[in-house]
Amino acid sequence: MLKILILGGTQEAVELAKKAANLPNIEVKLSLAGRTSQAVTSKDSRIGGFGGIAGLIEYLQAERIDLIIDATHPFAAKISHHAATAAESLGLPRLMLIRPEWELVPGDKWIEVVNIESAPETLPDLAKRVFLTIGRQELTAFSQLENIWFLMRMIEKPASDIVLPKGLLLFKQGPFDNDSEKQLLEEYKIDTVVSKNSGGSATYAKIIAARELGIKVVMIKRPMLPQGELVEDVDSVLQWIKRF
Ligand code: NAP
Repeated sequence: MLKILILGGTQEAVELAKKAANLPNIEVKLSLAGRTSQAVTSKDSRIGGFGGIAGLIEYLQAERIDLIIDATHPFAAKISHHAATAAESLGLPRLMLIRPEWELVPGDKWIEVVNIESAPETLPDLAKRVFLTIGRQELTAFSQLENIWFLMRMIEKPASDIVLPKGLLLFKQGPFDNDSEKQLLEEYKIDTVVSKNSGGSATYAKIIAARELGIKVVMIKRPMLPQGELVEDVDSVLQWIKRF
């Protein structure tokens, strides 16, 4: 029996966990940070941090994990670095599943920034009404922009201690389609979208809608991920697992 830890937080991780569990002689553990209350729970999953690198190493040893698949969100870089260090120190094979980035195409009006912290400083010269689609954890960075109105979309309410920018909160989970994204941008007279370069199809419609309406996009580049073997789709992970 081969025991696999899948670090999750993406749709791909859920799909992978289901498919990998159907392979012969494989036992799967799906680990989630617990960022949403509707997180999938089953006997094959666990929720919450490990307690840093030391906690992760302890977990890997206690559970006798043989392989680690890092299928976390491309912006969840800390857990990816922890996984890399822990895997190396125990000599465990590790594979990253990372969906490709969105690429600039003709018609896009992107202003690329290196991280979330540098996004707010670009806005005063560009925007009056912003569609902020960065989730709920990092909203405070935009709260000092008093002359800008924000439409903020996220899956669940932000924590009560988060200082929010001026505007409206919208609670919705993707996938989103083109027509409704276009309608939203028009209805709220949005002039600028702020997005992480998450990649994937579930949240790409807002980028297409912005392109079609000639709206600017402040695109936040991905954080640096650890070195190591990586694939871009679930089937390639299954092939990799079969090697063992
Ligand atoms: P992070 O900065 O990489 O991780 C912070 C801590 O959360 C880790 O050190 C770890 O705690 C715990 N953690 C993260 N993923 C875990 C997993 N799969 N299983 C167990 N523990 C996990 O990630 P983040 O704070 O969740 O988010 C960073 C960025 O990623 C944000 O911009 C967020 O919007 C985006 N994002 C994250 C997720 C997600 O599910 N995490 C999903 C979508 C987007 P310990 O050190 O205690 O082990």
